[in-house]
Amino acid sequence: MASAVYIDGKWTDGHGARLSNTCPATGEIVWEGNAADADQVSKATASAHKAFRHWSRLPQSDRTAVMVRYADEIGKRTEEIATTISRDMGKVLWETRAEAATMKAKVAVSITAQNERAGSKYEQAAFGSSHLTHRAHGVMAVFGPFNFPGHLPNGHIVPALLAGNTCVFKPSELAPGVAALIAEAFDAAGLPDGCLNIVHGARETGGALLNAEINGLLFTGSANTGVFFHKHFAGRPDVILALEMGGNNPLIIWDPADIEAAADIAAQSSFLTTGQRCSCARRIILPEGKFGDAVIEAIVARAKGLKIGAWDEDGVFMGPLVSEGAAQAATDFQMMLSKAGGKSLRRLKRMDRGGGFVTAGIIDVTEAHHIPDEELFGPLMQVVRVKTFDDALIRANATRYGLSGGLISDDDALWVSAHQEMRAGILNRNRPTAGASGAMPFGGPGLSGNFRPGAYYAADYCAWPQASQVSDKSTRMGAQGFPE
Ligand code: NAD
Repeated sequence: MASAVYIDGKWTDGHGARLSNTCPATGEIVWEGNAADADQVSKATASAHKAFRHWSRLPQSDRTAVMVRYADEIGKRTEEIATTISRDMGKVLWETRAEAATMKAKVAVSITAQNERAGSKYEQAAFGSSHLTHRAHGVMAVFGPFNFPGHLPNGHIVPALLAGNTCVFKPSELAPGVAALIAEAFDAAGLPDGCLNIVHGARETGGALLNAEINGLLFTGSANTGVFFHKHFAGRPDVILALEMGGNNPLIIWDPADIEAAADIAAQSSFLTTGQRCSCARRIILPEGKFGDAVIEAIVARAKGLKIGAWDEDGVFMGPLVSEGAAQAATDFQMMLSKAGGKSLRRLKRMDRGGGFVTAGIIDVTEAHHIPDEELFGPLMQVVRVKTFDDALIRANATRYGLSGGLISDDDALWVSAHQEMRAGILNRNRPTAGASGAMPFGGPGLSGNFRPGAYYAADYCAWPQASQVSDKSTRMGAQGFPE
């Protein structure tokens, strides 16, 4: 049994409902404990408020020094972080090792961003001077998704702490294990008690955190949850909301010379992390005719050849989906597309080995009607064939989301046009849609977020600007019509 509540630097058992997490590859229970109840959530936020008074007043250099030590501590735990995440949610080891490395690298990016985007400015004026500084918000509630349970909460927590906020983190109930390692690394780095508190649990614990005394909500997860949170905080402009949600991401392939390369990029865009990346390509848009046929054939060959297995098996590209429920949801979604008129080019199937294992699927939805504009979080690629590039752009933008998108083409003019027209926060050319630099902002318009991109821009939502005019002495003020 794991302790589920971390308050003021101490772990205790939760008083809420029993919670367990199963490895989707083996079916073994890998985390078990009682969730935090509402009273414990409220104590966690009280602890964060208390710690805020000291932490927010420290010089920036002191907070930065703690974060630099934290990066080292994460580095020492890379392998443990990787295996914990793999066991919890099934992602293969090469990916979770990369996730742990990104967690460490996030610190340097956040320090640069804090200086560049939330730094200070000073101007001499006739009366004295004008200053710009930034202030922390207070207590940030951090909600993480299961697919990057270390990297994405870390991507909120590091910039939030750096700016002087304190945090209450509710990890994903589908990947809870890494939170204890984050806490351990911060403790070893010398973060004062109470600056980071953790409350494990599912929706009930999450709901209690929404209703607790918080100054900000930093969320990465699905659009449904994000929209629910947005409504919850309607009429509360005092609470900063940073919502980073999913996408129904398009990738246009238009006459590149190298068909095999195009197929590599497309298949990796859709099937990386078993399709469980917010930036995975869901819709591949191609021209009618021989070129499009050849690309599809090459993509199908790749889908057939993907090595699927457990996180610790050799040479595996794709692990299982996060749960049996997710595997069932993926096959149900495929069935719905077929009923709507989609033609399967390669079926996504649940594999004999059980758990969350599925094969990669491809379905042509060109003739289908009433396809919902929804993100299926799994390895199912929808193919759309169009007559002209303008049609491709129209189809690409036919979504309420706007997270990522891409163009595979050697034609510079088409890229200029795609860059102008495609509505996506991450827009790549001849690169997988799931490729993004940590040193750039990450987020997109529409249902993909509330215009508070993370990564390099996280510093923007972690502090508010304070502008001051300063004169050392009060002096008499004259004005037209004002009595002397
Ligand atoms: P989710 O929305 O189901 O859960 C995210 C977090 O919110 C979890 O901690 C969960 O317990 C909590 N939660 C969910 N419903 C809640 C409720 N009603 N009340 C209180 N708390 C609640 O997301 P997920 O399935 O864990 O993650 C996958 C989703 O995240 C996908 O949609 C993916 O596109 C998105 N995502 C977005 C980004 C991004 O940066 N934009 C990155 C990764 C994942």
